[in-house]
Amino acid sequence: MKRKSLLIFIGIVVVMAVAFTAFFRNTYTVPVLMYHSIDNRGNETSLSVSPESFERQMEFLHRNHYNVIPLEKVISYIEKKEKVPPKTLAITFDDGFYNNYKCAFPVLKKYNIPATIFVIVGRIGQEGWVGWKELKEMSDSGLITIGSHTVSHIWLPTMGTRKLKDELSQSKEILEKNLGKKVDVFCYPVGAFDDRVKNNVKEAGYACAVATNPGKLPTKGDKYTIRRIKISRSSDNLLIFWAETSDWYTWFKEQRAQ
Ligand SMILES: [Zn+2]
Repeated sequence: MKRKSLLIFIGIVVVMAVAFTAFFRNTYTVPVLMYHSIDNRGNETSLSVSPESFERQMEFLHRNHYNVIPLEKVISYIEKKEKVPPKTLAITFDDGFYNNYKCAFPVLKKYNIPATIFVIVGRIGQEGWVGWKELKEMSDSGLITIGSHTVSHIWLPTMGTRKLKDELSQSKEILEKNLGKKVDVFCYPVGAFDDRVKNNVKEAGYACAVATNPGKLPTKGDKYTIRRIKISRSSDNLLIFWAETSDWYTWFKEQRAQ
């Protein structure tokens, strides 16, 4: 009997917590997922997701009718303050690993899921990293947006302004020249930024920038500090993946970081 009352009590607390936050929460926060390498090195690094797990996650989104949108669309929602349909999310990859092309791209095509890949321009074509041929193919497919992750993947906040400007504009120019299209999405290496870095990203002509999660700086409605949800080996469990991809999880994380 005691156990039953405890369960009822917990149930009431959960319902009240949900009702309370629903009252204070007036906007849907689009979860932006952050992937890195799609490989089987999960034991060595927490940032890897196995190809099998990635396929299962995409199949899960497809089967459950998630509205996966390109990052550009997230920006347009932020700008226009439009109502976002439920189960909307966006997918991003950092660094530009070759396995993004080899293992993730076929799956994204299979389920017609758009994504953004932020490449470290100085590593393009090197062993283990995606080359221009693959980048062009993905970009031309219309499904993949290519964004800049700087030339050399370096900590930006302590960098001299001239070098900072070079990292931002050169990576953009090189990508645009080789892909034959505008590149206007940016990703801070290691999620590190401050006001000066952010202003330079704006000045370089980028339309938005993504950071990592968690962060301590304000982000609400700021398209130059879009936070993301790290998808790692622990997301192998689809129940965890489901929780991570819910806007509630993103919302809670944003509140915590305020
Ligand atoms: Zn990175």
